Amino acid sequence: MEKHREQKGSRLVFVLYPFQGHINPMLQLATIMYSKGFSITIVHPQFNSPDPSKHPQFTFTPIADDLSQGKVSPADLFGAISALNKNCEEPLKECIQKMLKAEDTHDRISCIIYDGLMYFAQSVADHLKLPGMSVRTSAAATVLAFAVFRRGDEQGYISFLDLMSKDQVTELQPLRLKDLPILRNQDVADLVLELRANLSDSVKKSSALIVNTMDFLEQNALKQIQGLFPTPIFTVRPFHKLAPIIFSSLLKEDTNCISWLDRQAPKSVIYVSFGSLASIDEKELLETAWGLANSDQPFLWVVRPGLVRGSKCAELLPKSFEERVGERGCIVEWAPQLEVLAHGAVGGFWSHCGWNSTLESICEGVPMLCRPFFGDQNLNVRYVCDVWKVGLELENELERGNIEKAVRTLMVNTEGEEMRKRAMHLKEKVNLSVREGGSCYNSMNELADQMLSLRSE
Ligand code: UDP
Repeated sequence: MEKHREQKGSRLVFVLYPFQGHINPMLQLATIMYSKGFSITIVHPQFNSPDPSKHPQFTFTPIADDLSQGKVSPADLFGAISALNKNCEEPLKECIQKMLKAEDTHDRISCIIYDGLMYFAQSVADHLKLPGMSVRTSAAATVLAFAVFRRGDEQGYISFLDLMSKDQVTELQPLRLKDLPILRNQDVADLVLELRANLSDSVKKSSALIVNTMDFLEQNALKQIQGLFPTPIFTVRPFHKLAPIIFSSLLKEDTNCISWLDRQAPKSVIYVSFGSLASIDEKELLETAWGLANSDQPFLWVVRPGLVRGSKCAELLPKSFEERVGERGCIVEWAPQLEVLAHGAVGGFWSHCGWNSTLESICEGVPMLCRPFFGDQNLNVRYVCDVWKVGLELENELERGNIEKAVRTLMVNTEGEEMRKRAMHLKEKVNLSVREGGSCYNSMNELADQMLSLRSE
């Protein structure tokens, strides 16, 4: 993309939420804005720091977060959000104050662009009289689920627990309350209420809401969000199609799997990955291994460190499994996922349906076998299976017979073939949206113009 804004000397400050599924879209958006002529500063908590050497074009500034350096478990995610928002506010304020003191007319901060979960950044922006923009890395449907059901007195939200007696939740159609399990979890109910209120307040004060989705996928949800917030909304996916792929993995990508894929027949491989946070137990690992082995399909499986709670995963796979599978299976600790999904040998994706993985699969026309674990993953699965009809859900316990059957349905049966056709149709829409004049292309240009205009006085 052209660099037509260079002469204006505008800097964007991105504030990251330190988990893989959030770091990737934020750095990708930053890369696109860099290609449009903005200078970029990435402010990030010390926890899960990205590697600055992979992005020499950006300035990286770590801020103290007071989070223990131990791994945050999915169950603690709401606690982590709350802690980051309390601990990082002062450090961010100091950091931006320093930048403002040092700025000159050739390098002015246009805007603070923060991950919506780091909502304290909007307070910092307000305090320093700078514009702020909130980025939501989840589906528009998730944004909506957090924003609906305000209490009549406008003092916060009705808890999802209190809504359980409602049969129909028309506000969220096609979702059902049971698609939002973590939000109904008694243990985190107060943290969820706090988060919903803070997310909405920050969006109301922000200059724009940027949603990591494609408008043709979620038109209804986007329309409803627009009805709830006066803020302009920009959809920015599929940004990895608008700029070169960036490498922002916290784990080292094993690229050997690409040469393995090169040796496989077209559309024959099922790619298996449960993302950066989900975990299974030892028994589930073995059932998965034997399910894949017995399906007789070639597979590429990401067994990342930490996938099995409390064990070194690869050591748990028996010799008999390796002998049975031989060259038909490839196991890596972390894959270059975008490249894998774009590879002609990949015909299906067994995914936990994290939002990035879901979109990455759709962008490449790859149908999914869905196994959600927590958070918004259940919600994403409803859309994949029931709305876009490009996947099937692997329900019940992880057991080798179920797995074998589901993998075959996706990879070799007519049902899977129909899903593949629909997925390819969505891919065509994606490709149209990034062409000149397409919806994503336009939205990205409008967003860049908006960013530039905010502090142009
Ligand atoms: N990813 C990757 N290699 C892997 C597994 C995942 O590069 O082996 C990337 C994937 O492309 C996606 C991100 O990690 O961009 C995971 O985000 P997602 O929202 O799908 O799930 P989360 O990790 O947040 O549960």
